[in-house]
Amino acid sequence: MIEQYYGDVCYLQFQHYHPYPELIHGVFTRRGGHSKSPYHSLNTLGNLKGGDHLPHVVSNRQLVLRALALEEMPCVTLWNIHGADVAVFERSDPWRTDWANLTYFEQHWTAEYLRKGDAIITHERGVALALSFADCTPITFYDPVQQVIGIAHGGWRGTARGVVLATIDAMQERFGCLAQDLRVGIGPAIGPCCYEVSEQVRQLFIGQEQFEVMPTAPHYQGLVRESAVFTTVELPGRQSLRLDLWQTTYNQLISAGILPAHIEQAALCTSCHKELFFSHRAEHGKTGRFPTLLALRP
Ligand SMILES: [Zn+2]
Repeated sequence: MIEQYYGDVCYLQFQHYHPYPELIHGVFTRRGGHSKSPYHSLNTLGNLKGGDHLPHVVSNRQLVLRALALEEMPCVTLWNIHGADVAVFERSDPWRTDWANLTYFEQHWTAEYLRKGDAIITHERGVALALSFADCTPITFYDPVQQVIGIAHGGWRGTARGVVLATIDAMQERFGCLAQDLRVGIGPAIGPCCYEVSEQVRQLFIGQEQFEVMPTAPHYQGLVRESAVFTTVELPGRQSLRLDLWQTTYNQLISAGILPAHIEQAALCTSCHKELFFSHRAEHGKTGRFPTLLALRP
């Protein structure tokens, strides 16, 4: 990935998107924002019940949009629930577009306006898609042929439920995208160096157990099982089970027909680099979220 700066704000871009000037994107680090510890400093997660100071979250969101010159565009997001549902943004549908305004927090959430889901796709131009992360994998999609963009949120639960596979299927079904045309970026996420998980996580991936709510769709179960990469590390007195989210995500992309040459991986561990990224694991849950944005120029 390539480092870019906007004042003190530092963000990363996938190299393989550079031949496409119509595509605007950025995976932000935590640097250059307004929030104080433990949300220092470019945190884009906020809520009315506590956590970061909301005016800081709002100014961080505005800063992110300015960094990419997206401040004139509507900006949509999703309420992430670690599932595999894919939302399709259409201008004709009622969507909230006030991601970077205080109204986003002050007005009542409704299911209709603030959508739940873990992937968002669109063929609309002039709208910014934004999702925020801290260890979960940001996965970006661009089809230069059909002119469709998407972002998926792949934590272990979403990945075990097939959110990557569901995103590609939705792009195919809704917009006629072909897997071999898609350019995919796997952003910074917790790596196998740091991601210790329980045996139950492995059981859920390999299908020995099922989620009680939102079970993995039957047609994804085999692909999820085959994609899963776990390792064991010998620690003093015990074995540590690790999930390799990077490789698992990569394997799912390949199984869905994405060409290896069309996948760019950050291979940056958020937990090893908590000076650069928010890490839920390394900071024991008391941390912020860094955003990933995509938009097609109007
Ligand atoms: Zn690490």
